[in-house]
Amino acid sequence: MPELSTADLKGKRVFLRCDLNVPIKDGVIKDDGRIKASLPTIQLLLSKGASIVIAAHLGRPKDGPTAELSLSPVAKRLSELLSKEVKFPGEITGEAVTKLVGALIPGEIVLLENIRFAPAETSKDEAQRTSFAKELAAFAEFYVGDGFGAVHRKHASVFDLPKLLPHASGSLIDAEVTVLKTLTENPERPYGVILGGAKTSDKLAVIENLLAKVDVLAIGGGMVFTFLKAQGKEVGTSLVENEMLEEVKALIEKAKQLGVTLLLPTDIVVAPSFSSDAPPTLVSVDEIPRDQMGLDIGPESARSYAAQILLCKTVFWNGPMGVFEFSNFAAGTKTVAQALTQIKGMSVVGGGDSAAAVRALGFQDSQFGYISTGGGASLEYLEGKQLPGLLALGLA
Ligand code: AMP
Repeated sequence: MPELSTADLKGKRVFLRCDLNVPIKDGVIKDDGRIKASLPTIQLLLSKGASIVIAAHLGRPKDGPTAELSLSPVAKRLSELLSKEVKFPGEITGEAVTKLVGALIPGEIVLLENIRFAPAETSKDEAQRTSFAKELAAFAEFYVGDGFGAVHRKHASVFDLPKLLPHASGSLIDAEVTVLKTLTENPERPYGVILGGAKTSDKLAVIENLLAKVDVLAIGGGMVFTFLKAQGKEVGTSLVENEMLEEVKALIEKAKQLGVTLLLPTDIVVAPSFSSDAPPTLVSVDEIPRDQMGLDIGPESARSYAAQILLCKTVFWNGPMGVFEFSNFAAGTKTVAQALTQIKGMSVVGGGDSAAAVRALGFQDSQFGYISTGGGASLEYLEGKQLPGLLALGLA
């Protein structure tokens, strides 16, 4: 497989799969981190004298195109960041797109409309995906995969298309894989993993795969309450996944056997309802009222997590410690993020909500060792799964 750095792409048309799946509300981009993370590869391709056809997805369209999931605002922002025109045909394929792409000269860029507007992109039927991938392959002479956030998907533009063209991985995917390899294969110790967010079921496989490798495992967010209930505690109306209780019990036992420091909160910020103006009360973990729900780890817990994090040489963090979107319940996430910025070693913030959380709380990307762009993709990598998009690029 050619290395992108040495590939001769002068005068060639390159199909670039990016991850431009940014949060958009009322046509306004709330966090452009993923667009910025895609710039180095785009700039490298331009410097090589290529023209570029970019494909990306936005959200999960169910029944074809909708205005809310159009990449139009992304095309505009990308154009601002590159200080150059990004042509946006508003379609994925068809006569007008073919004509536009055919007329590209070196240095020009086209961004196709949300690739998931085409049902074949995400189809489970391989023949359907392949036929769509063939249409896309006709746009270019070379494929570059750089959409890390989508590599865990067996989708046409991620998995089938690279088989049809000479291909290489982009610098974002290379950087992500290097970091994830370190986290799974040779982290410097002590190694800490902090997991939070809403659901235990999303993260259990990661814990199972990493448990034997970590020194410290800290649990926050909604996950906490399944762990506390597994220990026989009252958790009130907090988020609990009852079907996970037995697995969590086994995991707590395994952590003990392996000598892993498992950090669970000792105090909790509770409230009567899930809302931004719900009055917060701080309680001990043994005194969660029956009619209240836990929405953040308390300050004592956050300080203790921070102290352990500061001893680590490698830390991976995925998932906020509480409902950080509501200011009353953001303190735990803030304290943990602050500690992460201070470690003498590698700090990795994994994906989606965690990246958005640290930015929303006022931290800069540069304060962390690495901020992954892929939530689901990085978690699946850490679960030890083979990811289709990496397999297609010869990286798995
Ligand atoms: P995830 O996508 O699994 O990382 O979950 C992120 C979401 O978890 C955020 O939107 C948080 O608001 C939410 N979250 C964090 N802590 C809690 C909690 N204690 N109860 C309910 N939701 C929570």
